[in-house]
Amino acid sequence: MGTNDMRVAIIGSGASGIAAAYYLMDRGIDDVTLFEKAAQMGGTWRDNRYPGVACDVPSHLYRFTFAPNAEWTQRCSPGDEIQRYMVDVAHKTGIYDHIRFDNEVTEAVYSDGRWSVTTDAGPQGIFDAVISAGGALHHPKMPGIDGIDSFAGKACHSARWDDTLDLGGKRVGIIGSGSTGTQIVCAVADVAAQLTLFQRTAQWIMHLPNHPIDEGKRQEYRDDAASMDSYYHYLADRFNSVFADAVSGHNAEAYAHMAQACMVNLNTNVHDPELRAKLTPDYKVGCKRLVVSDRFYQAIQQPNVHLETADIAHIEPAGVRTADGILHSLDVIIYATGFHAHSLCHPMRITGRDGGDLLEQWKTGNAAYRSVAVPGFPNWFMVGGPNSPIGNFSYLMTAEMQARYIASLIGEIAEGRARTIEPKDDVTHAYNAQLRNAMAGTIWTSGCDSWYFDPQGRVASYPWSYARFAEEMQVPALDDFIVERSFKRRMARRNRPQG
Ligand code: NAP
Repeated sequence: MGTNDMRVAIIGSGASGIAAAYYLMDRGIDDVTLFEKAAQMGGTWRDNRYPGVACDVPSHLYRFTFAPNAEWTQRCSPGDEIQRYMVDVAHKTGIYDHIRFDNEVTEAVYSDGRWSVTTDAGPQGIFDAVISAGGALHHPKMPGIDGIDSFAGKACHSARWDDTLDLGGKRVGIIGSGSTGTQIVCAVADVAAQLTLFQRTAQWIMHLPNHPIDEGKRQEYRDDAASMDSYYHYLADRFNSVFADAVSGHNAEAYAHMAQACMVNLNTNVHDPELRAKLTPDYKVGCKRLVVSDRFYQAIQQPNVHLETADIAHIEPAGVRTADGILHSLDVIIYATGFHAHSLCHPMRITGRDGGDLLEQWKTGNAAYRSVAVPGFPNWFMVGGPNSPIGNFSYLMTAEMQARYIASLIGEIAEGRARTIEPKDDVTHAYNAQLRNAMAGTIWTSGCDSWYFDPQGRVASYPWSYARFAEEMQVPALDDFIVERSFKRRMARRNRPQG
């Protein structure tokens, strides 16, 4: 098979889908189709449009290595700017023309070296390989609070923002104090008449000043791409070798520094001892995904803002009633309650070799070989699959490394050295056993609850260092895979009718 005969389906057109398409096309594999369930290009930055949404990874790092951007306006740019960047990259690389919008993949079925893909718009044909790039923080999680549907005001989840909501002069309640709830508090405190943050668990907050990038600096980057690149590498080193390795327990000195900085941030910026006590977590820094903000402690101390730590008893038409019997009367409730982070590939039906059902198999826990492939599912790959380092590394770097690795595996098929590729069962099993062992000593298991825990109570992140991840993703270890090489079948496929 030549690279031009190879047909690849990519599920999702967010950052992961763009990375996957880019690295395939970079290898000359051009017959690539991205299936996107919505009418617009996808991902986090399309779905999250709440007030204050921004990426807490510096923008000059939160970009693809193949698409530098001199135009970022802030150190940590707002979500709509990132979304415009994603769309722009898709246009400039030609990927945009490969997206089939309004096509939600409902089913993918493997048979004899090929996958047939069906969307809610009907059958989409036969593909030699499929890359799932649907993202992890994708399915909003509503809290199971009694009476939630009885609220008479307006309400929405942060990732399903109601664009008709006007918060000016309103009494607003925010449920959830993670990265999202914190960003919303900062943005809405100056707008709402009254703002109540319902906090179930306090968060450690890292102070990172978010300054604007002025036109002079942007011109400097336009004129000198090399300086922009060296800034990227500087940030990558700081982020991955210092921050990410501190969190994953591979840089004790950086961890101590980070923990101290969070403590100092709290103690120096929150003046009322009672409020400070409510905002002080009872677990270690980094156990939950660290919240980054340069304004939260100021916002929560504004006179119109109230931190409520009593348990929520129920929601009623007029607002939220807490367990102490107090009714918090509200006009708007915002649910910043996170995501079903472990519902990877849901709600697709994915049928692999011998009729194996991926989601059925994952009912006892999502598991993959190095996050990218699963035994029994030949030529099925994933960007952002199980135990990807989401939350601790810069996601775009992770997505690019996985996409390059997957493109390299698909290249084996495209270039005729393989017909099908799937990871060996025993190797995958051993890899996951190692993962679980390594996870036992991490900060994430040190005594808190977080979205890193899957329904089986296991932490679904990546426990090793950034350097190890980069090394693992360098070149596929082909010995770890069942590589079927059948010339006869290959010829049969070459002669097949196109789907
Ligand atoms: P999250 O971290 O899962 O936080 C959910 C919040 O909702 C928590 O405070 C949780 O309390 C609370 N909650 C959930 N159910 C509740 C209930 N029934 N009653 C009361 N409180 C309830 O979700 P998130 O803030 O959306 O963030 C998820 C991840 O998205 C982040 O960790 C980050 O990786 C990513 N993110 C990134 C950025 C960025 O700037 N890069 C911004 C936003 C999000 P408990 O803590 O007690 O469970």
